[in-house]
Amino acid sequence: MCADFIEQLREQQLVRKKAKLFRSRMVLNGPQETHVSIDGQDFLAFCSNDYLGLANHSALKEAVVDGVRRYGVGAGASHLISGHSMAHHKLEEALARFVGFPRALLFSTGYMANIGVVTALLGRGDAIFADKLNHASLNEAALLSRAKLIRYPHADLSVLEKRLAVSKAKLKLVMTDAVFSMDGDVAPVDELLALCEEHNALLLLDDAHGFGVLGKQGRGALSSFEHCNIQSPNIIYMATLGKAAGVFGAFVAAQPEIIETFIQHARSYIYTTATPALLSHTLLKSLELIEQEEWRREQLRKLIVHLKSELQSLRWQLLPSDTPIQPLIVGESETAVQISQTLHEQGILVPAIRPPTVPEGMARMRISLSALHSEEDVKRLTTMLRDLAMNWNE
Ligand SMILES: *Cc1c(COP(=O)(O)O)cnc(C)c1O
Repeated sequence: MCADFIEQLREQQLVRKKAKLFRSRMVLNGPQETHVSIDGQDFLAFCSNDYLGLANHSALKEAVVDGVRRYGVGAGASHLISGHSMAHHKLEEALARFVGFPRALLFSTGYMANIGVVTALLGRGDAIFADKLNHASLNEAALLSRAKLIRYPHADLSVLEKRLAVSKAKLKLVMTDAVFSMDGDVAPVDELLALCEEHNALLLLDDAHGFGVLGKQGRGALSSFEHCNIQSPNIIYMATLGKAAGVFGAFVAAQPEIIETFIQHARSYIYTTATPALLSHTLLKSLELIEQEEWRREQLRKLIVHLKSELQSLRWQLLPSDTPIQPLIVGESETAVQISQTLHEQGILVPAIRPPTVPEGMARMRISLSALHSEEDVKRLTTMLRDLAMNWNE
C-alpha cells in the first residue's frame, strides 16, 4: 500500500519534470548578497527580496552579537506564556510609530501574520474580497477562516465595488498585496481605502514588498499615497521583516482594539514560540538604517530606470512596474527555464517563475533589484538578455 503511494509520488514528480515545472533549491555557501557563492562559484544574483541590501549589513551583524549577549538564543516560550521580551516590545512600539499606527504586533512570519489576522477577525457569514493576484498566504487565510471568498480581477475597482455593494455579509474585508509580488505593480491603495470606507469594509494591506522601499523614509505603501488617510480605522497594515528589512519576521499595525483581538484570538500568534529576541533587537537597528539611509532607495530608483531603458523593444516585455520587482514576461515555462539556465551558465541568477505561481502563458523572469547592485551589474544582465532575445529561435 505504502509502496504504491511512494510510486505514485514518483510519477507525479516525473510529470512535473516533463512539464518543466519541477522546482529545486540552490544551496548558498555564504550570505545573501548581490553576489552569492554556490558550489564555490560566484554568481551575480537578481533573485532576493533583500531590496535595500541589509541582509548582510555589518551593523546588523553587530546587533545580532549584541542581541545574543543580552537575550541569549531561543525565546523558549510563546509570547503569551513567557517568550515576550523587552526587545520584542520595543520593536512593536518602534514599528507602530514608524508606520503611523497606534499599535503593532509581531508575528513570526508574514505567512503566519496573514493567517492569524484573517482567521481571528472573520468567520462564517462574513465575506472576503480579494485581488486575483494576491499572495498565496492571503488566499489560504481566507479558506481557513470559513468566510466567503470573493475574488475580483486584478486591481479592478469597478468589479470590486459592485461585489461590495451587493454583499449582505456581517463583516466585510478587502485584502490586497500593496506591491504585487510577481508583477511588481502597486495596488490603488487610496481608491481601495475610499471604497472600503464607503462600504464599511476593513482593508487588509499586505505590504511585504513595499515596507522599507516605498514612501517617505521607506515607511511603506500607505505613505507613498499623498492623499491617503492613513489614520483611517478601516486599515489593517501588514508587512514582513525578512525582505527589505533584511532580517526575519513580520508585523501587523492597526487600531489598538484590533491588535488586542489578535493577541487574544490569532492562533498563529498564540500557539507558536516567539522568534528569538535577538532578531527584534537587530530589527531595531535595521529600522534606523531604513529610515536614515535614503541613498538605498535612490540607488534602487536609478537602477530601475536603467534596467527599463536597457530592456526596451525586446521580443520579451517588462511589465509596467516602478518597484524593484521587474518581471520580464517570456510566455512559456520552457522558455523561462531555458533563459534562466543560459543566464546561470554565464554566472547570472534570475529565477524563472512559472504556473501555478503565475497564470498559464505568463511565465516570466522575475528580476529583483537591490540597492547594492551597481549599474555595471544591471548592464551585465541586460546585455545577456538582449543577446539572448536577438538570437532566440522559437
Ligand atoms: C513574502 C510574502 C509574504 C510572506 O512573508 P514571510 O515573512 O516570508 O512569511 C506574505 N505576503 C506577501 C505579498 C509576500 O510577498
